[in-house]
Amino acid sequence: MTELPVAQTIANPQPGAVDYPGLDAWRDLPIVQQPTWQDNGVYQAAVSELSSLPPLVFAGEVDVLRERLAAAAEGKAFLLQGGDCAETFEGATADKISARVRTILQMAVVLTYGASLPVIKMGRMAGQFAKPRSSNDETRDGVTLPAYRGDMVNGYEFTPESRGHDANRMVQAYHTSASTLNLIRAFTQGGFADLRLVHHWNKGFTANPAHSRYESLAREIDRAVKFMDACGADFDALKRVEFFASHEALILDYERALARIDSRTGLPYGTSGHFLWIGERTRQLDGAHVDFLSRVRNPIGVKLGPSSTAEDALRLIDKLDPQREPGRLTFITRMGAGNIREKLPQLVEKVTASGAKVLWVTDPMHGNTVTSPNGYKTRNFDDVIDEVRGFFEVHHSLGTFPGGLHVEMTGDDVAECLGGADPIDQHAFLDRYESVCDPRLNHMQSLEMAFLVAGSLGK
Ligand code: PEP
Ligand code: MN
Repeated sequence: MTELPVAQTIANPQPGAVDYPGLDAWRDLPIVQQPTWQDNGVYQAAVSELSSLPPLVFAGEVDVLRERLAAAAEGKAFLLQGGDCAETFEGATADKISARVRTILQMAVVLTYGASLPVIKMGRMAGQFAKPRSSNDETRDGVTLPAYRGDMVNGYEFTPESRGHDANRMVQAYHTSASTLNLIRAFTQGGFADLRLVHHWNKGFTANPAHSRYESLAREIDRAVKFMDACGADFDALKRVEFFASHEALILDYERALARIDSRTGLPYGTSGHFLWIGERTRQLDGAHVDFLSRVRNPIGVKLGPSSTAEDALRLIDKLDPQREPGRLTFITRMGAGNIREKLPQLVEKVTASGAKVLWVTDPMHGNTVTSPNGYKTRNFDDVIDEVRGFFEVHHSLGTFPGGLHVEMTGDDVAECLGGADPIDQHAFLDRYESVCDPRLNHMQSLEMAFLVAGSLGK
């Protein structure tokens, strides 16, 4: 790996942050993808405010999630993790949040049936406001400005004011996450998640002639729901579901300021989200991100791209899960459809042979990004599905468990990924491409993926 710069640290330790040995060790390590905050006074005030605000998630919930993920690592549950590539402040509306939660719940019902397993429902939501970028700058019409790094850091608008790195945006990210989580909690506890209602929505999907090939699976689910009803299943209990929040823990100023000490155990937790992951660009073994996340109790994910070696995976396990604690570590592989069958087996084989028990999840999005002839960043639905199939094939052939699906999706009728049974073509991008970052599966494409995956889960 190339030489990495050391963090441009403004304050050490951050003003107001909880004190715990090691939580600031990352500040002396190489770090990438961090903002250069414009104003030191604003930065100091922002982190001190974040440090005094209530936690967004609670240690007890985080512990429940770790248990759920431990079950998934043993093949007794399946993880569904989905949401925007990059959430925006403007997009945090009731309509968009409810559509996304609803789509995840719809997918989860189909997957639960297909796998005959509980599905752990998790949003890339309520904190997914920061983006790693491959270039620091963006040039348009001869003008070069800092790249957009997510609403937590700067604005998407292409002006010098908007593209400056403003630490106040971290506070806004916190508040937007809080209101998003509030709505998610209300939806998932208040009757919106009723199994019969969600199943009813799915019938709307298969009623579309383009999706008629999924009708038989929908009918089977219908019969199962009726059977449960006839047996006197407690549908009231099925009105509530657990729903967890996750994001890439990219901006360490934000993550550090939201670390809290659990009063029950005296241990540090990241309270910005239940599940935090390390991206493909920040997983350096001796880097700041791996160090900081090794010190909080949350379940941690690491993205593994096609250049990952088994040695990398083993050393990440040593750093992030030295106790080999079930549910602690998830590897989210994003190899690309053309690579997964060749590259994944050696990783899985060596990790399994080492005795470590990690949860394996597929991200079929990030290895399959292409540019459409008319210039949009897109993905082909068929490539996405092919990577998922490859993931299942590899795990089935090795006797290991394909434990989950990580997708960029939305509940809205956008046009960002190509294909699907009710196909999106590139001309639709002109009117319905809304993502400020990577392309997402739209509502229908997401459900179609769930039906396709459910069909192969039972096999
Ligand atoms: C992402 O999940 O949006 C992302 C940037 O992924 P990766 O780190 O795998 O490239
Ligand atoms: Mn993305």
